[in-house]
Formats: sequence, C-alpha cells, structure tokens
Amino acid sequence: MPVYEFKCKKCEIKFEEYFKSASEQKKLFCPSCKSEHVEKVFSVFGTSEAGNGNLASAGGNKAGSGGGCGCCAMG
Ligand SMILES: [Zn+2]
Repeated sequence: MPVYEFKCKKCEIKFEEYFKSASEQKKLFCPSCKSEHVEKVFSVFGTSEAGNGNLASAGGNKAGSGGGCGCCAMG
C-alpha cells in the first residue's frame, strides 16, 4: 500500500495519505484547515523518478565546468 506525503498550501503543514494503489485518485484535503489546496510532496525515500542529476536544489548555481568528473574538480 503506497503512502504519499502532501503539503497544504494554506497552512503549510505536511500530512500523509494512504492509497490502495498507485493509480488511485482521492479527494484530498488538509487535516488541519480542511483546505483542498494540497500538493504532493516527493519524499526522499519514495519513488526514484528523478534519480540522478538533480543535486542542485537550493540556489546551487556554480559555474558549470565542462568536464566529465565533477566530484573532484575544485575551483
Ligand atoms: Zn491546511
């Protein structure tokens, strides 16, 4: 039984919702403020849709060097 994490856009709390199947459509609402403006949050240990290459998330806009190995290139 898959469980997904959601976030309320109104009060910004996070909550989890269980689904019978991955394709099940459910009417979701915030358990706190009962708002229907919720969005799905991709948890870290969830499905590996975007596995590699998505390292920079918080303003990591360093100069993209044109090299192969990025892990050992300093400067
Ligand atoms: Zn809410």
